[in-house]
Amino acid sequence: MIQKISLANLPTRIDKLERLSEDWGINLFIKRDDQTGSELSGNKIRKLEYLLKHAIDNNYDTLITTGGIQSNHCRATAVAATMLGLKCELLLRSGDNPKIEGNYFIDRLLGAGINFCNADEYRDSRDEIMNKIGERLFKERGSKCFIIPEGASNALGSLGYYEAMSEISEQEKLTGTVFDTVVVAVGSGGTYSGLCTANKELSLGKRVLGFAVASDREYFTNKIHNINVEAGEIAGLKSVFTEDDIEINDKYIGIGYALSRPEELAFIRHIASREALILDPVYTGKAMYGLYNEIKEGKVPCGSNVLFIHTGGLFGLFPKQDQFVF
Ligand SMILES: *Cc1c(COP(=O)(O)O)cnc(C)c1O
Repeated sequence: MIQKISLANLPTRIDKLERLSEDWGINLFIKRDDQTGSELSGNKIRKLEYLLKHAIDNNYDTLITTGGIQSNHCRATAVAATMLGLKCELLLRSGDNPKIEGNYFIDRLLGAGINFCNADEYRDSRDEIMNKIGERLFKERGSKCFIIPEGASNALGSLGYYEAMSEISEQEKLTGTVFDTVVVAVGSGGTYSGLCTANKELSLGKRVLGFAVASDREYFTNKIHNINVEAGEIAGLKSVFTEDDIEINDKYIGIGYALSRPEELAFIRHIASREALILDPVYTGKAMYGLYNEIKEGKVPCGSNVLFIHTGGLFGLFPKQDQFVF
């Protein structure tokens, strides 16, 4: 069995959303992975528990990773590094002089090393740039740098969500409620991958529905399939993973990654006022808006048990507050 360190508050709660269940004609439950911690909140911690075990065991002293200026993953990595006495260096996709707010504010508060790149560099050469940063830090201070890919979405990281799916299965046994469908936002694919591999390997028979928030269905199906296969190899799983195991819906990306339409923000307001459930604009807000619309179109059976995984992202809501209309 592959080992991890313990950083997250686990298991996370599962609660029924009574009012939305009634409004939408399904039994809607929420798994509070936004409550894996406060500074360390969200889904990235489960993946980092595995990656950081590897980093510590191999005597790395610096973590390098990358994401958008408001990346939850970069913030979680900076927090985890600091907690463990490691250094952290971030490559952030940004324009000039980004406002110090939200996740980026936390990155700065913690004293993470900050490097910027533009959108083209991010798309074409982020891994190369991270390698160069690692070489520079080795020259400057002899650092041994561990490079974590975007979103910590590789085979090792995905095991965090394999474990989360086992946790869900245990919670089903305790409560007697079995979930027909598990719903999650998909940004870099590692979370979906772990849920999907566990669903197959443990024969849980669930529909695992992912709502893309960035690239299209084809891109994610391919990327997730690759992670599934590699995770199967490193963890010694017996299942054969195919692209047919993967269900990605890309109809609710809206106007683009981290960009919000007025109807999405109005929906976040509605959910907050109905259930005191606060979704983020980049991931969970879009995914739940997608779920709501799919239910309306009859694509999720009436009366079925649906578990939505709240993957966090609260810090990313505050930089958007001026876009909300009250
Ligand atoms: C990163 C992130 C996701 C998506 O997870 P991936 O593993 O990158 O697909 C979903 N929600 C939040 C809040 C995130 O930060």
